[in-house]
Amino acid sequence: MLETLRRIIQEVNVAADITIGMELMVSRIQETMQTDVASVYLFDSKEGRYHLMASEGLNADAVGQVTLGFTEGLVGQVGIREEPINVENATKHPKYHYLKETGEERYLSFLGVPVIHYRKLLGVLVVQQRQARKFDESEEAFLITLSAQLAGVMAPFEVNSYVHHSGIDGQERRYRGVAAVPGIGVGHIAVFYPSADLMAIPLKKSAEPQVEVARMRVALDAVKQDMQSLARKLVSSIGQEESDLFEVYVRMLDDSALGGEIIAHIELGYWAESSLAFVIKQHIQNFELIEDAYFRERAADVKDLGLRVLSQLERKTQRQRQYPERTVLLGEEITATMLAEVPRDKLVAVVSVKGSVNAHMSIVARSMGIPTVVGVMNLRPSKLESEPVVVDGYSGEVIVHPNATVLKEYQRALTQEQDREADLQSMRGQPSITTDGVAIELAVNTGMVPESPDRLGELGACGVGLYRSEVPFMVRDRFPSEEEQAAIYREHLSAFLPHTVTMRTLDIGGDKRLPYFPIYEDNPFLGWRGIRVTLDHPEILLVQLRAMLKASVGNNNLRILLPMISTVFEVEEALRFIHQAYMELREEGCNIVMPPVGVMLEVPAAIYQTRELASRVDFLAVGSNDLAQYLLAVDRNNPRVAELYTTYHPAVLRALKAVQEEAASVGTPVSVCGEMAGDPAAAILLIAMGYTRLSMNVSSLLKVKSAIRHVSMSDAKSLLSTVLRMDNAQVIHSYLNLTLAKRGLVGLYRPGTVF
Ligand code: PEP
Ligand code: MG
Repeated sequence: MLETLRRIIQEVNVAADITIGMELMVSRIQETMQTDVASVYLFDSKEGRYHLMASEGLNADAVGQVTLGFTEGLVGQVGIREEPINVENATKHPKYHYLKETGEERYLSFLGVPVIHYRKLLGVLVVQQRQARKFDESEEAFLITLSAQLAGVMAPFEVNSYVHHSGIDGQERRYRGVAAVPGIGVGHIAVFYPSADLMAIPLKKSAEPQVEVARMRVALDAVKQDMQSLARKLVSSIGQEESDLFEVYVRMLDDSALGGEIIAHIELGYWAESSLAFVIKQHIQNFELIEDAYFRERAADVKDLGLRVLSQLERKTQRQRQYPERTVLLGEEITATMLAEVPRDKLVAVVSVKGSVNAHMSIVARSMGIPTVVGVMNLRPSKLESEPVVVDGYSGEVIVHPNATVLKEYQRALTQEQDREADLQSMRGQPSITTDGVAIELAVNTGMVPESPDRLGELGACGVGLYRSEVPFMVRDRFPSEEEQAAIYREHLSAFLPHTVTMRTLDIGGDKRLPYFPIYEDNPFLGWRGIRVTLDHPEILLVQLRAMLKASVGNNNLRILLPMISTVFEVEEALRFIHQAYMELREEGCNIVMPPVGVMLEVPAAIYQTRELASRVDFLAVGSNDLAQYLLAVDRNNPRVAELYTTYHPAVLRALKAVQEEAASVGTPVSVCGEMAGDPAAAILLIAMGYTRLSMNVSSLLKVKSAIRHVSMSDAKSLLSTVLRMDNAQVIHSYLNLTLAKRGLVGLYRPGTVF
């Protein structure tokens, strides 16, 4: 059964388009379940109607013509109730709705199963049989399992686009991802695909098919010649018969075979690379569907040929890629180097189908201030080249081909954001104090090259609240040596003088990966992360600590921060290593001053041991990103649960308040250094709780300062006490939105409204 399911899903998944996929699907269902009828009705949410999209058994003329209202017929009932309906004789059911075009009066038994994707109804699968009988449990279970899996395959396609047979071009499509860098980007998509990856090549049109045909012919000839010379070389070692195989490959590239198909596709007006990918993918899929192992191997041959032609094309292509004026870089997995390929003045946003908030690319995009969304569900880059798009780096939404109203709203929001940016510049040089004179220290989070100290001074930052030391580790292909690290840290420490720099020890694991130190775990966020890794590898930790301490000589502005602490023992162990490194360096003659040491509070266990932890160190820093993830049990990088990930959850707010009170009761300074600190609305709540030091991305600093300068501490406190009485994150969020809007602070918080 599993194998059958797998095959059906694979077939539908690889079908040239979703209409063909649905036809295939119903015919496979009918075949497998041995039913008289198998149909799929798709639900068009805009119209509120079902469309019969494919059927085996019902009159062919009805397909694409018959529609049903939301509550009509048994299909409507399946959708409303969101559960299967299995009846022996449909004609006797009170909700039976006779559709004469379908000829369904011949079929009595009916089993309908909803297709639902993340709470959204996509359609209904139906099987019917002439005789009056109830489908048995195993049949029902099969259809439910199939529908649950098909939902994922069907979801990327907007139903109303194909029910009207208009293709997917020109329709607004929304995709949900995880917001990695705040901001709004409005522009046109440039799909970035890794070279020599056939599967990732976008479907692009070409204005000069004849030029493309010529390029393709050169590439095909080059591969043929390669093959023939390979065959000549190998004939002595592999024998004539095997080397004849190469002749077969050569013929596959002829005009009468693959070569001809590729040229024909180019002549339809497509780019050479797109045509190659299109034809090769189709052949691979066809071969893979054949059970026989021999044919599956042929799929590998075709792929290999395709890659050879592609590499010839790419070798011959010396053209410099042209990017649109407002480029939204989009791809399966955008890397930091890809960012660098787009001219900075043209890059307005980044969308990566894979990736995480803490991946190297996101860190680079954040430091460049480019709105970024990662981990986007159901998005297939290959068909999106040149499409207009809006990227909402606040909510994590990507809107392809936005309709005129949405586009206008976002453009308005963008202008508002730009105006606000101009206003914010007036905040430079102003102190960060509330209207009733309470001073709040604002620090910056860093990781890449140090910010220019002048800029920091102008912004009014009081130092670095979090230096993510893993970043220099992520950009190398091996662990940096002690001297290399010392040089990097020294540059950072001296750049920020006379301010302090809080350097966090290596925080890898979870979604922060080092290419040369892979960690494979089923649950990486609950596994070997942060301090757990470095305590298990004293040789890595000690080198890093020594480098930090060495770098601090003469600067004396270092503070050391320990990530992912969940027990006091870990702190004691880490302190032991810090002392060891300190003593070693003193013995080696370095004139080091012992730096203050702090603990990150980012695991719920640490929240309940704030005092015990505080008593062992000099300061505390709340990592609200991880704290929210662990308190809410929501992976911060998983778009499926992105809506549940919010630092406005009452549990997160209460935990933050408790930490501040506990730390204050023992007189240990505590700051917040997660993304929350850079959100002006959340920052107001944090200062009301008593936090007097917040550390954030440089790009958020003036916004937070402006918010602070617009409120009094007494107002902030009353806002907090109202919010703490609320039991729902969405309500808290909306309430803050509204309150800040009333004070004219809306543009700081999130431009425009929720669209
Ligand atoms: C945090 O968890 O809030 C934090 C600042 O650390 P990171 O985002 O680097 O995990
Ligand atoms: Mg963290």
